[in-house]
Amino acid sequence: MTFARKAMLLIAPFTLSLAQPALARNHPAAAPVPAGPVPAADAPKLVIAIAIDQFSADLFAQYRAQFTGGLARLASGAVFPSGYQSHAATETCPGHSTILTGMRPAHTGIIANNWFDQSVARAAKSVYCAEDETKTAATPGDYVASVGHLLVPTLGERIKAVWPTSRNVAVSGKDRAALMMGGHRIDDVYWWKGKGFVTLEGVTPAHVALEQNAAVATELAAGDPGYALPADCAARDRAVTAGTVTVGTGRFALAPGDATAFRASPRLDRAVLELATRLVDADRLGRAPTPDVLAISLSATDYIGHGFGTQGAEMCIQLHQLDSALGAFFAALDARGIDYGVVLTADHGGFDLPERLAQQALPQAERADRALLPAALSERVGAKLGLDPKGLFLAEGTSGDVWLRKDLSPDQKAAAIAAARTDLTAQRQVAAVITADELAATPLPTGSPETWSLIQRARASFYAPRSGDFVVILKRGVISLTGAGPGYVATHGSAWDYDRRVPILFWRKGMTGFEQPSPVETVDIAPSLAAWVGLKLPPDTFDGRCLDLDAGPGSTCGVHP
Ligand SMILES: [Zn+2]
Repeated sequence: MTFARKAMLLIAPFTLSLAQPALARNHPAAAPVPAGPVPAADAPKLVIAIAIDQFSADLFAQYRAQFTGGLARLASGAVFPSGYQSHAATETCPGHSTILTGMRPAHTGIIANNWFDQSVARAAKSVYCAEDETKTAATPGDYVASVGHLLVPTLGERIKAVWPTSRNVAVSGKDRAALMMGGHRIDDVYWWKGKGFVTLEGVTPAHVALEQNAAVATELAAGDPGYALPADCAARDRAVTAGTVTVGTGRFALAPGDATAFRASPRLDRAVLELATRLVDADRLGRAPTPDVLAISLSATDYIGHGFGTQGAEMCIQLHQLDSALGAFFAALDARGIDYGVVLTADHGGFDLPERLAQQALPQAERADRALLPAALSERVGAKLGLDPKGLFLAEGTSGDVWLRKDLSPDQKAAAIAAARTDLTAQRQVAAVITADELAATPLPTGSPETWSLIQRARASFYAPRSGDFVVILKRGVISLTGAGPGYVATHGSAWDYDRRVPILFWRKGMTGFEQPSPVETVDIAPSLAAWVGLKLPPDTFDGRCLDLDAGPGSTCGVHP
């Protein structure tokens, strides 16, 4: 795509009608506006894009009335309670790839967290979305982090293409989240790894990152008995058992030095927001005439959702703590006099563990049958067709993309796909099996993502050079995990709305809030932010559309809403 389009960037001729906050009077002597295009007169000086990993629209609705901190502030802005990560493969990497590119995975190329590429040199053929698999012959567990698989530019990159002195910064609890929101051309990018924050290979970490790591080390060494239970969490404080694991009553006690427990607790998000604040100062974000972009992805909600489910005391404590940590972050920006605009969303939704769902009025919730795993499918189809079953079908689990072993002849491949489809569609947990040929023949969907068919949802995840030979979609209520273990009792990733639907909240000081319940998409965020700062792009630049953030007759979308 279309880096050439950048040559066509023009000045936005319109004026934002959002109330202008008292800003920047205490700026140091403002740098001169560079020659060329200028930002919109009322453009926020800092665009902050926050993703809360696994923050479903359902969780936002459930907890909205309890928020008093940062999330309450954002809920007073422009609220889109039915945002959609509209594609079928609702995983972290694809979800983050849509937020600041304005494009669906079919165009970002990030079809999943992992895909199979049988042409890679190393033994393991699974490729991680945020690795450079050419740099190491090691396993996917020992990779070099890279944004190289992202096929399109991010908002921060588009802004830097027009205003080269603008800063593009990203920080997250996960490498793939920071990299997919930040993009290729980035000034600072940090993510949590092991016991502290790291950056790209070959880049010297900034002093502020080392300071943050020292603060985390002190916190880790001290340990902590855990969090008090907020009063409104009491009804959820009840044990439920999944396999060998019991969840529901946790308080996030931290044994000294236990970095794994630190990561799956509210402490991780607070550390990410503290580092973000340090980077605002170190990079002087929001203090120049042209807009800066700060992307933040907060991962603890996802680790907690996977480890404890969505409906226990753990998630309740987490969302209270996250609300508080975001409030402190915004207060720190306010104290610095920075004029910032915020969008907050999620990379995907989430679903509770089936053992608790079954108790709570959803008896059809269940775990996927092990017969759906690729090894079991390979055995059945291999025996039927007289093919070697070893690695006949390659897949990450019981659903999603499936690849066929590359040594098959075209006739063998066609027979194996047909046999797999017959086999799988006879399994009671399978909703659909859709082939790559069928997806390639399906137009990219338009209209409300709420009413897309399953094949349309899968089409939004389909990028032919990387996608599988077919896609397996499980029935609603069937989670892809075949079992439960420590840290992993529940998940997301399905084509169903509990995993697709996320909140989208825009906020800026002084703006008039409104609520728009009709479905919108996360690919609408980038065009909305681009217009907010006066970055004018050709109308076909994005898969999404500009959302007008002005509650009245004015528009933040300029000439092409
Ligand atoms: Zn995620």
